[in-house]
Amino acid sequence: MNVEAKLGLDVFQVDSEQPHIVIDHEICRTRCTVRYCLHVCPANLYTVGEDDRILVNHEGCLECGTCLIACVDEALTWHYPRAGYGVQYRFG
Ligand code: SF4
Repeated sequence: MNVEAKLGLDVFQVDSEQPHIVIDHEICRTRCTVRYCLHVCPANLYTVGEDDRILVNHEGCLECGTCLIACVDEALTWHYPRAGYGVQYRFG
């Protein structure tokens, strides 16, 4: 079973009221030159929008915390999802 198939087993309860990852776009725009977030997320959740803003699709987050560590300019507010939300791992 490959990684994509394993990730496909996971179930996500999306908290649409309180996203657990919030990007400070002002910090991104004025300080960040490396954009590590686009390369480190194992679920490939970071993208660049049409206006060149970094976007994150928190709905598929694996809660590994890699992006928080990689964001050296501290543009992310990151916390675990509220109880009852987030990823549920299944090992098939
Ligand atoms: Fe991706 Fe991990 Fe950050 Fe979630 S915590 S967005 S899976 S790098």
